[in-house]
Amino acid sequence: MNAIADKQFVDYIIEADWLAPVVPQRQLLEQHAIAVQDGVIVAIQPKNEIHRHFHAAQQLELDGHILIPGLINLHTHLGMSMMRGLADDVALMQWLQQHIWPVEQSFVAERFVRDGALLGCAELLQSGVTCFNDMYFFPQATAEAAIQSGMRAYIGLVVMDFPTKYAHDADDYLAKGLAIRDEWRDSDLIRATLAPHAPYTVGDKTFEQIVTYAEQLDLPIHLHLHETQQEVEESLTKFGVRPIERMRQLGVLDPRLIAVHSVAMNEQDLDLMQSHRVNVCHCPSSNLKLASGIAPISAMLKRDLNVGLGTDSSASNNRLDIWTEMRTAALLAKAQQQDAAALPAWQALEMATIHAARALNADSSIGSLEVGKRADICAVNLQHINSMPCYDPISQLVYACGREQVTHVLVDGELQYQKLSFQPGVYAGIEPTEIKEIVQLWQAKLKPFKAM
Ligand SMILES: [Zn+2]
Repeated sequence: MNAIADKQFVDYIIEADWLAPVVPQRQLLEQHAIAVQDGVIVAIQPKNEIHRHFHAAQQLELDGHILIPGLINLHTHLGMSMMRGLADDVALMQWLQQHIWPVEQSFVAERFVRDGALLGCAELLQSGVTCFNDMYFFPQATAEAAIQSGMRAYIGLVVMDFPTKYAHDADDYLAKGLAIRDEWRDSDLIRATLAPHAPYTVGDKTFEQIVTYAEQLDLPIHLHLHETQQEVEESLTKFGVRPIERMRQLGVLDPRLIAVHSVAMNEQDLDLMQSHRVNVCHCPSSNLKLASGIAPISAMLKRDLNVGLGTDSSASNNRLDIWTEMRTAALLAKAQQQDAAALPAWQALEMATIHAARALNADSSIGSLEVGKRADICAVNLQHINSMPCYDPISQLVYACGREQVTHVLVDGELQYQKLSFQPGVYAGIEPTEIKEIVQLWQAKLKPFKAM
């Protein structure tokens, strides 16, 4: 009998020195390999066993590397990427009123969003991010950039009660968003969320409509909530209650909700989040840079709240770099608690993977390296000056590594990015010249809006 005939033919076998599957919790496998077929992880076995059962069209032998689940950016606005560095070191309202909103009023349209989102996808992919949760105008354009890049994307169907160049009222936002959701319904990589922008830009009636759609269509709700103390004060003046209590009254608080930021929180706010099993998206760099504050993440984790990590936009961060967010989240939690054991490395990695997947109601298919899950995989070279010597690979990932150590990124079983040593990274779907051209075009147009 032919030995090859007994073996299952697969698309990829990827071998590495270490593998951190994230589920089971804190497991670290050594000298293992993953077999991938038709976008699915079909086996995780020791290197010396896997070849007895499988032979592959392509084999990656990644010495000195660790394989981890593709990272998930749980909150971003990729369409804003052309505004990176346009206005830094200014207060939130000045930043919005004098810089961000005038640019949006002048330029936001399909092309601006698509080009910005493509730049954002390129940055995310080279950082090992395989999935992002977005919220911005012209969401169709962001979906198109994700498809070109080969990324998995949760596209926020943004809703506000104010007219913009994208839509003239809440009904118009909803109608446009739902049409986009219908158009991408059969896509393997694109999913929709309902994305009411914030309690201060969306009225009660619109929130009620959104809750009804979320239930009918089984969609997550992606919402900025309690980003600043000012937001809380204004809600008390206008509605007589804190924003989160208003959300409770309107039926928004439930396990479908991804509450982004959640910085200005008191004990009662946390009680509400816990009793309604709300998901939180922690964006530490954006909150620090805009001087919004520090979210009480340890208190949330103690209450068993599900917390993922987001970068926010590159206009307020300015890096779409989940590695920075993992490290900053861990360091802030330790300082805040005055406890060096708070938010350990393995928990930061969970926040960037399985917890974010859970927030998107996608943890049965992504967020960990397990047989049967979609093959969203990131390979990281630990044989790098940044991370030598290596006593504990998971600790190295969070405290020492940078995104430049990411060498291979697979999304849904397709190799979408790879970087061989001493060479620039190569994308399957993005030409470097295309990025250069679109950036030159927009930089010239936006330059007059630069903060002096
Ligand atoms: Zn945001």
